[in-house]
Amino acid sequence: MTDLADSPAVRRLADWDHERLEALADEHGTPLYVMDLDRVKENYTRFAAAFPDAEVMYAAKAHTGKAVLEAVLEAGADIECAAWGELQRSIDAGADPNTLQYTAVNPPDHDLDYAVDLAEDAPGLTITIGATDTLERLAERGYDGRIAIRINPGIGTGHHEKVATGADAKFGIPYERVPEVADRVREEFELVGLHAHAGSGVLTEGLEEHCQAIERVGKMARRVGDADLEFVDVGGGYGVPYREDEDPLDLEKTSNMVRDAVGELEATLKLEPGRYVVADAGLILSEVNTIKDAPDTTVVGIDASLATLIRPAMFGSYHPMLNVSAPDREPEPVTVGGPVCTSADVFAHDRPVARPEREDVLAIGNAGSYGYELASQFHSQPRPAEVALEDGQSRVVRRRESLEDVTRVEQ
Ligand SMILES: *Cc1c(COP(=O)(O)O)cnc(C)c1O
Repeated sequence: MTDLADSPAVRRLADWDHERLEALADEHGTPLYVMDLDRVKENYTRFAAAFPDAEVMYAAKAHTGKAVLEAVLEAGADIECAAWGELQRSIDAGADPNTLQYTAVNPPDHDLDYAVDLAEDAPGLTITIGATDTLERLAERGYDGRIAIRINPGIGTGHHEKVATGADAKFGIPYERVPEVADRVREEFELVGLHAHAGSGVLTEGLEEHCQAIERVGKMARRVGDADLEFVDVGGGYGVPYREDEDPLDLEKTSNMVRDAVGELEATLKLEPGRYVVADAGLILSEVNTIKDAPDTTVVGIDASLATLIRPAMFGSYHPMLNVSAPDREPEPVTVGGPVCTSADVFAHDRPVARPEREDVLAIGNAGSYGYELASQFHSQPRPAEVALEDGQSRVVRRRESLEDVTRVEQ
């Protein structure tokens, strides 16, 4: 446990075994997702060790692959889910349904049916509501079990406005209405906790604002009676450095600031990081197929696309890149793009990469979170295979899709 907790705060592309990566690309083809499960366990353990008296869950949506869920369970995490499929997959990976927390955001009927069904045999399941309609719909289904209230703290943080959930009316009960909703929950259900998730991708400089949201959650917990709550859950949102020159989150500082912000509580503090646990444990290997000298730049065509990793197109995200076939060649500024017919299918502009040649393998780093989960079959591209590394071994945990997988549901 201790050496996992003492693991490095960041793993950069340069830290991976490049020869091994090239061999994996050779063996399994490209594009290929690689997930290092040992690193997943290190990340979880290091984060949890920084919050010794808190309960640290894993937010499944960052990467819901079975091997990853098994790894976080092995590391001791409970799992936070935001959809019925995530609940089922967590159970399939070995989670005790009594330990699951289901965050219902505009939940479809099927999700509520599933959760209520599950709670019949697993009364420890917690359902987090962000609208009173959800309470009514749960009551209609005969549910009177554990409820946490998601608070809208009115302050959002994160790497992009599309993930700054804390101030978005879509999420949580408006702050001033929380006491009245808490009374109502206490009448009809079992109120076990308060919850807020203010944003995503927060690094050391975003902590101040992140903690303002957390401060409001702590205040509200005392207002509704923290002694009668089991937990106060301040969500996830802890960032990783995507750029090589960015510093990793200072976990000790983060822990102190979060503790200070939430204040004295008789309830257990909970956190639910997703990205932090899996981001730097994963990368994509992609083969160069085209080198084109254009007037202003050299275009490097690769076989990964926005269907493989949508973050650059969706959020303008920076992902580090490394030529694992020839890391020592002279770096040259290049534009790297995939085979999809839109200008959005570009991973990098004018990025210095060790001069790529056709058939080189490029690694795209920090692809472990919101990578495979958001992969699509756009352009009739079967989704890539995924290889897991663990204890010095590698194994395919998701085979490459075939075209039959793409067309299977057509009638
Ligand atoms: C997405 C999400 C998380 C995890 O966010 P990260 O930025 O990946 O840490 C945690 N809790 C809730 C409710 C979420 O929706």
